[in-house]
Amino acid sequence: MFSKIVLHKGKEVSLLRKHPWVFSGAIKVKEANLKDGDLVELFSVDNKYLATGYFANGSIAVRIISFVQTAIDKNFWVEKISKAYNYRKQIGIVNEHTNAYRLFFGEGDGVPALVIDNYNGHIVIQAHNIGVYLQRRDIVEALKEVLGKEIKSIYDKSSETVSNKNNTQVKNEFLFGEAENTVVLENNLKFFVDWSKGQKTGFFVDQRDNRKLVGAYSKNKTVLNTFAYTGGFSIYAGQGGAKLVHSVDVSAPAIEICNKNAELNHIQNHEAFVADTFDFLKDKKDVYDLIILDPPAFAKSRDARHQAVNGYKRLNALAMKQIKSGGILFTFSCSGVVDKFLFYNTIAASAMEAGRNIKILQYLNQPSDHPVTPFFPEGEYLKGMVLWVE
Ligand code: SAH
Repeated sequence: MFSKIVLHKGKEVSLLRKHPWVFSGAIKVKEANLKDGDLVELFSVDNKYLATGYFANGSIAVRIISFVQTAIDKNFWVEKISKAYNYRKQIGIVNEHTNAYRLFFGEGDGVPALVIDNYNGHIVIQAHNIGVYLQRRDIVEALKEVLGKEIKSIYDKSSETVSNKNNTQVKNEFLFGEAENTVVLENNLKFFVDWSKGQKTGFFVDQRDNRKLVGAYSKNKTVLNTFAYTGGFSIYAGQGGAKLVHSVDVSAPAIEICNKNAELNHIQNHEAFVADTFDFLKDKKDVYDLIILDPPAFAKSRDARHQAVNGYKRLNALAMKQIKSGGILFTFSCSGVVDKFLFYNTIAASAMEAGRNIKILQYLNQPSDHPVTPFFPEGEYLKGMVLWVE
């Protein structure tokens, strides 16, 4: 079942520290006909078992899914998924006020490239690698065993995220039940989620805690939510007593759902615009007390990092220039390759360019259903700040 890979002397140290990636340069011996997605066992030069993972041609050659020698079968996935599920139950992610959460977060839950979201019993699986995609049947059986009757449907949305398909046809499809969309509860607010037509898996559950904080800052404020998608932050701002809420997104379908969400939650004083954030903000000097900037990842690779930093700098400088005196800026970056120190420096540069004094009120990050472990610091991708602008 497993092919064997032997690592160069000394290349086992990162595995002994439980880092889940093996780079191609670390490999000393492998079978000639290894295919993307094949399960492999890794050994040191002196033939000690190190880990099990799936192979891919590329700079990351093996992604580790186990550090103990074991069969990769339904039982394996039951153990992984029940661990992830119990963790979320223990820390209170799953409760009567919230039924939308990330059930499985890649390396943070011990399986690189596997993302599973739960929307009120509708499960969306997203494989980011052919190795994990090939395991989907067992993953589905394991999900059914762990969550039982709670599951209403399971949708596999991997066609855009599996990069090297290795001649496998990867299509989006239901693997159990069938449903197009649902209304979820997040901190008692209602959100319409459409996983088949929406972006990513349908909803950005990673901003749950930060949205709640926006709600707490919004009383009597004029609020602008840019890159609003389906209005997550806008609904909390409205609920928090904002005088006025504007949502802006380039995507017309997203804005349509944004309006629907405002209606679902009886939010008054809300207006949504299909527009580019940079254009929209140009002539909005001294209009808003609170602005949210939550752009898509400007950089997806290290090569794109410099350009991304310029994008963040330009965006934040523009918002800082336009916001009212004493305004509050919520600013985010979800680019993994822009770490929190680089983001911090970028914000400092924006304030210089805008000629505004700022104070940092709070640092923000991803919620605990997107766990970060010390063995894999790369898993920390979402960072944000709450700024006061003089
Ligand atoms: N804040 C949202 C998630 C944002 S995802 C939430 O809480 O759910 C990023 C969004 O930015 C996407 O909806 C995308 O359509 C939008 N977008 C991308 N480029 C944009 C631009 N230049 N101006 C406005 N919106 C943009």
